[in-house]
Amino acid sequence: MKFETRAILGQRAENSSNAIVEPIQLSTTFSRASDGNFRDDAHVYSRMSNPNRDAFERIMAHLEHGERALAFASGMAAIDTIFRNLKPGEHLLLPEDVFFATLQLAHATLIPQGVEVSTVNMASLTKVEKAIRPNTSLIWLESPSNPRLGICDIAALADLSQKRGILCGVDNTWATPVLTNPLLLGADLVMHSTTKYLGGHSDVLGGCLVFKREDHLFNKAQQIQRLAGAVASPIDCWLVKRGIKTLHLRVKHQSANALRIANELEAMSAIEKVHYPGLPSHPQHEFASRQMSGGFGGMLSIQVRGGEEAAMKVVAQSRLFTAATSLGGVESLIEHRKSVEGPDSETPDNLLRISVGIENVNDLIDDLGAATSTLSN
Ligand code: PLP
Repeated sequence: MKFETRAILGQRAENSSNAIVEPIQLSTTFSRASDGNFRDDAHVYSRMSNPNRDAFERIMAHLEHGERALAFASGMAAIDTIFRNLKPGEHLLLPEDVFFATLQLAHATLIPQGVEVSTVNMASLTKVEKAIRPNTSLIWLESPSNPRLGICDIAALADLSQKRGILCGVDNTWATPVLTNPLLLGADLVMHSTTKYLGGHSDVLGGCLVFKREDHLFNKAQQIQRLAGAVASPIDCWLVKRGIKTLHLRVKHQSANALRIANELEAMSAIEKVHYPGLPSHPQHEFASRQMSGGFGGMLSIQVRGGEEAAMKVVAQSRLFTAATSLGGVESLIEHRKSVEGPDSETPDNLLRISVGIENVNDLIDDLGAATSTLSN
């Protein structure tokens, strides 16, 4: 069965009322049997499990081809759960271009505990091989990466990790399971900020981990999820599950819009550089065409001629792209990335990150044309 079918069929509601859409179950606690014993396979307390969370975790495992999934209150809570497995003396290898909060989390929580953290250009297998240390226990990947849209060879890196006995985790937030399935490429686990494309409407915060196997790693993560309690609420699980039903439509449309926009932007004199894996000018374009199926995603970044001031002008002069952080919703957003990342950011000061929505692409192109044309005047 293809993705579109699995996204719908995999969500068939099972409930006593025959409702097509399952109810939201807000109850935090669940009754035992009349003899006072626990019922078989029943819910007990919502920090441990809940019907909506179970259903959401099931569809996530199904869509990412994993055995089990765990839902969290945010993408960062999901990442934190994996990072907590690292022990003092071990080493975490991150991409040079990585979601800034992921790097900040590693610096804030792992380094003080004696975990080594370093970064490398994940597009180069040779560089990764050199960056691996005898104590490396986790390699974390993003493809495309945030915010410079770097592409890495997930299959080759997962293979390398496996040969060295290293865990390979992939933040698949930007590609979504519509375009890339890291577990099928050999990764051990997949992480999503479900706040983004899976939710799809900028109205729910959440995160998810999908595990290739129901093994020791899964059990450990589930224990942390249940004890630390950074769980996704029943309403949030229900909302993301609803978003998943239209995920393939949105992502394909957003990818097509982004490709058109990237091509147009590349031809504009006010733009110094466009970062988008769908463009032949992208250093990993050929490879991305093979690893990603059905599009290159709805995210792109641009560097504007004239530095930060010119970049800020583009943001201010756009009428259709809302100046806001986050991504993956139906509405187009534009963001000056360095200012949100803060003083330690190494993102170029003329870089704008664009999350392309589902609006009419010609309207979006006209708007960016107008916003950038005033720069050269
Ligand atoms: N990973 C990536 C690639 C992201 O873009 C984000 C948020 O922008 C996160 C993780 C964190 O997700 P959340 O904001 O849901 O905690």
